[in-house]
Amino acid sequence: MSEPGIREPILELRDIVFGYKLRSGENVKIFDGLSMSVKYAEFVGIAGPSGCGKSTLIRIMAGLIKPEKGEVFFRGKPLQKPTSRIAIMFQSPALFPWYTVLENVMLALIHEKNLSGNDKIERAKAFLDMVGLTAFESAYPAELSGGMKARVALARALVSHPDLLLMDEPFSHLDPLTAISLRREVESLWLNQSMPPSTVVMVSHDIEELVELCDRIIVLTKRPAKIAGVVEVDLERPRSRRSPEFYSYVDEVYTLLS
Ligand code: ADP
Ligand code: MG
Repeated sequence: MSEPGIREPILELRDIVFGYKLRSGENVKIFDGLSMSVKYAEFVGIAGPSGCGKSTLIRIMAGLIKPEKGEVFFRGKPLQKPTSRIAIMFQSPALFPWYTVLENVMLALIHEKNLSGNDKIERAKAFLDMVGLTAFESAYPAELSGGMKARVALARALVSHPDLLLMDEPFSHLDPLTAISLRREVESLWLNQSMPPSTVVMVSHDIEELVELCDRIIVLTKRPAKIAGVVEVDLERPRSRRSPEFYSYVDEVYTLLS
C-alpha cells in the first residue's frame, strides 16, 4: 500500500455539523461547521472545555457517528463507516471479562480474513509482549490492575496495524506513575516508524500531557465547538516538564482555553 506523502492529511474534517436530539425534543448543537485536518505521521492533541464535544469528535473521526452535514476523509477517501485502519482507545478499557487477555486482543482481528487462527495468536502475543504483558496472556481482566488493563487496551488497539490511533483521555484514570510509563510507551511506538500507529489523535484535559506528547494541539471553544486556536509544540523529545519553554506552551494552551 502506498503511503500518502508526509504533508498530505491522513484525516480531514470538512464543515462538520452535528447535534444530539434529546428525548425532550431539544437539539443540542455540538458542531456547526467544524473543519480540521491531521497530517500523516502527526501526533495531534485536542483540548477543550468539558462537554464541548471532544468525545463526539473522536467518534466522528472513527466513523462511529455520521455528521448531519460535512464530510470526513480518511486517506483521501470519504469515511463511511468504522475501519480497522483506525483504532480507538477509550478512557475505560472495556475488556470482555469472560475472555482472557489474549482472547481480548485477538477479538480485534476477528475480521482479518487473510490471517489464519495461528497467525492471529502469534500477532496478539507479539503485541502483548510489546506492552509487557506476556506473563498475563491467560489471565482474565478481573485479575489485572488498571494500568495492565490499559496496556491490554493498547495492544488491542494496535494489533490490527491501524494507520491512525484515536485516544479519548486514555490515561486520565490511571495512577500517575502508570500514566507516565504508558505515555512513554505510546510515544516510543509512535516514534518507531516500523510499528503502528503512524499517526495519533489524542483528547486530554491534562494540558501538560498534551504538551509532552503532541506536535500540535487544537484547542476547541465551548459548544458549538469551534477552533479557539492551534499551538504547535516545537520541543525535542522526550520532553522535560521542568523546562521554562515547556511551561510557556502550557500557558499558551490555557490562555486559549480561557
Ligand atoms: P466532551 O468529551 O468534550 O466532554 P462530549 O462529546 O462527550 O463532550 O459531549 C458533548 C455534549 O453532548 C455534552 O453536553 C453531552 O452531555 C452531550 N452528549 C454526549 N453524548 C450524548 C448522547 N449520546 N445523547 C445526548 N447528548 C449527548
Ligand atoms: Mg469526553
